[in-house]
Amino acid sequence: MPLFVEKFGGTSVGSVERINAVAEHLSAADKAGEQLVVVVSAMSGETNRLQGMAAEISGDPSAREADVLLSTGEQVTIALLCMALHKRGKKARSYTGSQAMIRTDSVHSKARILDIDGSRMRADLDDGYIVVVAGFQGIDADNNITTLGRGGSDTTAVAIAVALNADECRIYTDVDGIYTTDPRIEPEARRLDHITFEEMLELASLGAKVLQTRSVEFAGKYRMPLRVLSSFEPGEGTLISYDNEDESMEQPLISGIAHNKDEAKLTIRGIPDEPGVAHRVLGPLSDEHINVDVIIQNISADGLADLTFTVHRNDYAKGRELLEKICSELNASDVIGDDNIAKISVVGVGMRSHTGVANTMFEALALEGINIQLISTSEIKISVIIDDRYMELAVRCLHKAFNLAES
Ligand code: ADP
Ligand code: ASP
Ligand code: MG
Repeated sequence: MPLFVEKFGGTSVGSVERINAVAEHLSAADKAGEQLVVVVSAMSGETNRLQGMAAEISGDPSAREADVLLSTGEQVTIALLCMALHKRGKKARSYTGSQAMIRTDSVHSKARILDIDGSRMRADLDDGYIVVVAGFQGIDADNNITTLGRGGSDTTAVAIAVALNADECRIYTDVDGIYTTDPRIEPEARRLDHITFEEMLELASLGAKVLQTRSVEFAGKYRMPLRVLSSFEPGEGTLISYDNEDESMEQPLISGIAHNKDEAKLTIRGIPDEPGVAHRVLGPLSDEHINVDVIIQNISADGLADLTFTVHRNDYAKGRELLEKICSELNASDVIGDDNIAKISVVGVGMRSHTGVANTMFEALALEGINIQLISTSEIKISVIIDDRYMELAVRCLHKAFNLAES
């Protein structure tokens, strides 16, 4: 019997009506002889609502209690979905992350899955149950509830698919696949039938929130076929796999454009230009689990340097505080920051064999009068940091410059 892990995001389970629609879909798949593990998110808006209540009570809630709170959103949907399945005469059983034995590390609010003991889910599947698991959560070695970061239900789904050796992991959402860019920003965006793991990983990590980055990493590492499709309308969606690296096919120069308003920029000015300084600046941030993204160092004539980098906006205040401390330790000049920035990235494996992508990108932005603050490149992507007021304009002008609306 084929085994599928199917994940339904917040909008897809956003009301009783939607939960009933998901139950209908699952009943039909069950009838067709598929074994099913279903991963659900909290109903749309619920995670934000819970976060909002915590913020009303405390500006700095305990990370452990925040995870206990946020994990409840998904617990509501697993129970309701099982009830809807029972109503349809189906055998179904719900599991929270801890009951499903999803072990994570102890980094609250961004925990990583270490291991899943799939024995209980397996036994249920063999007994003819539809297994319904709460996304976005797990349990650490001391039995504390952890959460996997926003969008983490995608990662729960892929990790379970890998643990149970499923045939495919299907991510049902409110768009019918992966588009050349966010269709909410560019209505002319085009759906892709296929995309490579490599490109999807770049798009996700550069801000395309349709899949959590970790889920794509997992799927790529274990070669788990991953499909993104609509829970609202039928269709094949987009398959993310290795298989479309068909040499005979001309690879498109650019597959997609990602945007991201989640970063903030920090600069420490007047640091000594000598070995070990970048480590002394960035080490303490890393110790606090603050990820640093685009990094640029400028050297001035007087033997001093400026180091600029971006961090997640949630880490901005803490990062700035740490940097102020490092600034006085190093006797540097000062620290400046800007949290009104956006990152726009163009991604495509075709870049490997073609030159001129950067030129086209910079020219298109220049024609719109958009100033580039930082640039970062890799083999298959170019990212620029700009003023966040121009983010949507930048996405649309680049979509046009690279002719992405046409196949
Ligand atoms: P879910 O609640 O189902 O997890 P998300 O909101 O996390 O759904 O992800 C789906 C959204 O991702 C879409 O509504 C769309 O606006 C956005 N998105 C961003 N980039 C893309 C892209 N390249 N292709 C498709 N959707 C994208
Ligand atoms: N409910 C969580 C969130 O809103 C996890 C998820 O939906 O994937 O981020
Ligand atoms: Mg999501």
